[in-house]
This record gives sequence, C-alpha cells and structure tokens, in this order.
Amino acid sequence: MKNSKSKSLLLGFTAALAATAGFALKTPGTAEQTVAQPQRTVALAIPAAKPAVVQPTPEPKQESKPEPAKFKVINHEIKSGENLAKIFAKLDLDKKTLHRIIHTNDTGKEFANIAAGKILQVKTAQNGDLVHLVYEKNAIDTLIATRQGDAFTVEKQSKNIEHKTASAQAVIHSSLFLDGKVAGLTDRVIMEMADIFAWDIDFALDLRDGDQFTVLYEKQLIDGKEIDSGEILAAEFVNQGKTYTAVRYKDKKGNVSYYSPDGKSMKKAFLRTPVDFARISSRFNLKRKHPVLNRIRAHKGVDYAARTGSPVKSTSNGKIIFRGRKGGYGRVVIVQHGKSYSTLYAHLSKFRKGQRIGSRVKQGQIIGYVGQSGLATGPHLHYEFRINGVHKNPLTVALPKSAPIDKRLLADFKRQTTPLLSQLDTIRTTLVASSN
Ligand SMILES: [Zn+2]
Repeated sequence: MKNSKSKSLLLGFTAALAATAGFALKTPGTAEQTVAQPQRTVALAIPAAKPAVVQPTPEPKQESKPEPAKFKVINHEIKSGENLAKIFAKLDLDKKTLHRIIHTNDTGKEFANIAAGKILQVKTAQNGDLVHLVYEKNAIDTLIATRQGDAFTVEKQSKNIEHKTASAQAVIHSSLFLDGKVAGLTDRVIMEMADIFAWDIDFALDLRDGDQFTVLYEKQLIDGKEIDSGEILAAEFVNQGKTYTAVRYKDKKGNVSYYSPDGKSMKKAFLRTPVDFARISSRFNLKRKHPVLNRIRAHKGVDYAARTGSPVKSTSNGKIIFRGRKGGYGRVVIVQHGKSYSTLYAHLSKFRKGQRIGSRVKQGQIIGYVGQSGLATGPHLHYEFRINGVHKNPLTVALPKSAPIDKRLLADFKRQTTPLLSQLDTIRTTLVASSN
C-alpha cells in the first residue's frame, strides 16, 4: 500500500470503518486534492475482513444421573433465513419441544434470535428426543437447554470478562487501519480512535506518513484471549505536526464522553442558525408544494429569507466537501462535520473567497453569501442538516453535546483524567526515547 497512487481498496470491511478510516488518500496532483501537500500522502486502504473464527462449542453441563450411551450430536451451521422452527423440522425434532424451550423463561426466548453462520449444537437420545440444545450467542454468552423429563431447564452461561489496561503506539506509514493492526489494536479500538478525533482530523485526506498516535485503552479478555471490544481511556494523535489529545470521562450518571485535557468536548456543537438577522420563510416539510415547480416536493431543509449578500456561516467546525453549482440548489456549499454530520447551504449569490473543496472551516466562519441562484423565488438561504446522509429537521434535530465540562464536575474530571493523561505521557515519552 505504501506507494500506491490511487488504490482505494474498500474490501468487504464494515461500512462504518469505510466511512471513517477506509478512504484512500488522494495523492498530490489528483483532481480532488486542490490543496498543495508537500508531504508524501499515504493510502488508507483496508484489507478484507477475516472470516469470523468459530469458537468451539462448550460442553453442556453433565447431568447427575449417568446418561445412557448412544447420543447423537449434530453441529448444525445456521444458514441465512433459517430459524429454529426450520432447523427442528429439518432435523426431525418435535415442534412441541421447541415451544417448551422458548417459553421456559426469558433466556429461552433468546433462542428465537439465532444468527446465520453460527453453530447450533443438537444432542438427541436414541429415541430421537432432544436432550441438549447449545447455542453460543457471542464470545461471552452461551444458551443451553437441557431436558429434565418432559420439561427443559434453560440457562445462559456467561464467561468472565477480565479487564486490563493496555497501550499502543504507532507511526503511520501505510494507513490508520494497517498501522493500528500492527500496533496490536482491534478493529473496534481503531474505529473508536477515528471517531474521537473525527472533528479535528479528516482521516480520509489529512493523514500523512509520519503521523503518530499513542493510545491507552481497556482490553477485555475472555479465557486470556482478547475480544474485539474495549474502550479508549486516553489518546493522542499527532497529525501533520499538530497534537490532539483526548481523554475519557464518565460522569456520575454514567455518560461517557471524550474531552481535551482542559475539559473541552472533542465533539463540536452546531449553531442553530447559519444566517444572522434572518426570518424563517419555509420549514422542514416532507409534503410541501414547491413554489416554483408548483407540485408536491419534500422540503428537506429550512429557508431563511435574508437580503442578498448577507453572510452565510458554517454552523460547526468541518471541511468543505462540495462547492459549486448543483441543479435547483444553485450555488451550494456542503460542509462535513466529524464522521456523520454534514450541512448544506444553497442558492448562494457567491462563495467566500479563498476557500475551496478541502478547506477547513471553523464554526461561525463565513462560507458564502445569500442569493437566489438555482430554483428560488427570492433571495434566501436553503439550509439542510444530514446525519449519515439522512435529512433531519435542523430546527429540532438533537445536536451533539459539546458543552465543556460543567464547573461543578471539574474536580471530578481532574481526579478521573489526571492519572490517565500521565499514563499516556509516560507511554509517549517511552516511544520518543525508543525511536531516537
Ligand atoms: Zn428551501
């Protein structure tokens, strides 16, 4: 991947990862990359997902009375579209047995949600009666139904999760994903890191060879083996020479968020209104009659009537991902904020000078001016708000919290985060020392 010019491999990994960490960087000189980048860019390609490893199904509990010999054990791999009823019919098992198991208790009901690709272990007696039904739901929980005469006991066996603090550090040479993997991080921790810093670093375009990260996280182990979970406790990312630090804080209600060491949220808020001194002339309405087209057409944004030339401001920190003409929208700017949010500003009379696709904008920064380009009856700003590509009403959407730590919580914040940050510092110092 190191020297690939434009190999943007997005091979069968999760869409979520593709959305944050999976883009290939554009090399200088390609059409999309209009900002001059003196440094070598690196491809953010990710490999295909490995097939899930099927864990050996645990032995069901031994019954107290000695079992007569001659049991039949079938390890049935659940196919897509199969449910327990279908599997029971296929294996010639009694339908009533299934009914009994599912209605024994709440755990029994969980048998109704079996997932394709997993193994259902079926143990039957010589007379064809089901004796044991074992389903490993996930790395932690296994559902077990055991015959007791005509009835069944249904229970869930949960493995112990061991928590351990771990750390990793890496210098980016090929991609956040690959270098993260080499550093021993699970997919999930890599994803989390991309999420935490998404408001400050565009992992699709900003990553450079030589960038580095240090991360302190909590490993979860089962039987001594790491499972793909665990939370980041603190992390530092050096992107193009600029250092970003985030630390986890859990408030007394159990809400977890990431903050800068001085208590500012890593997520940035949105302004409610992109134009000052404007009046709302049309609201978000999925059944509106379009004033120009004169037919029902969803109005997936809010219109602000304002004088031509009134400044239009980006409602949050982000990056311009579109700037140009787009059909009925006329002159339009689209800004991407973090991983999942984007805002659109349409019918502009002109764009702000000095900005281009790829430019970073701050909350409140002017990006253009009100006009009536495209399909518009008068000068106004048409403003849209999208989460993961889905239009939301900008006036009512729940916006990400970005308030700094409440003054009353500051002492608790310091108490919780100081040890994490000093641990992070120690790890980073070690990294610098060992690389010198
Ligand atoms: Zn509109």
